[in-house]
Amino acid sequence: MKYLLLLALLAGLFFVLGVRRGRPGEPEARRSPPPAPPAPPQAMLRCAECGMHLPADEALPGRGGVFCGATHRASFEARQGQA
Ligand SMILES: [Zn+2]
Repeated sequence: MKYLLLLALLAGLFFVLGVRRGRPGEPEARRSPPPAPPAPPQAMLRCAECGMHLPADEALPGRGGVFCGATHRASFEARQGQA
């Protein structure tokens, strides 16, 4: 009779542990994965010619600032040269 009690106790212990870990037999992958963290905000730069905001990796560096395109850089630098 002692062994039966011990067995019941162990069964209860395993049941509790199983419940805590999730349903027994369920693979870990089936649980929904945590949502991916959002992409970090990208630095926005301002075109020195027209004032348009553009992401840093699209900005064209030049004398006097960054530009949205080669034409704006050229016109800005031409104006700087005149002054
Ligand atoms: Zn521009």
